[in-house]
Amino acid sequence: MTIADCIFCKISRGEMPSEMVYDDGVTFAIRDIAPAVPVHLLVIPFVHLEPLAGLTPLGKTALAHCWEMVPEIATKAGLESYRLVVNQGADAGQEVPHYHIHLLGGGRLGKMA
Ligand code: 5GP
Ligand code: ZN
Repeated sequence: MTIADCIFCKISRGEMPSEMVYDDGVTFAIRDIAPAVPVHLLVIPFVHLEPLAGLTPLGKTALAHCWEMVPEIATKAGLESYRLVVNQGADAGQEVPHYHIHLLGGGRLGKMA
């Protein structure tokens, strides 16, 4: 997949519809199209980042900003308690190669780790 084909890049450019719940120009958050729990958001950097290894300084700054904004995005979504998940690689179930944090909540979550 190239950046031109990337679903999250297309959403970030407004070329694909999404339910956007947060956007500060560096980070955005959307509702997952197939929610696994009652509140399932994806917190995503605008910049297309792939592997966690080999991040550039720009990538590190963009990722740090995503994590910094999680509490505010969760509060806006009415969540006090939530789980954060990052799938890294196919065996972990990653489908979209553009880095994203799953923000999961809205009910009692089963123990996972
Ligand atoms: P991954 O499996 O890569 O960690 O997570 C990708 C997530 O993106 C999945 O939970 C999937 O449901 C979600 N997703 C895939 N395509 C779209 C889309 O077009 N719009 C939205 N809002 N979510 C999507
Ligand atoms: Zn992308």
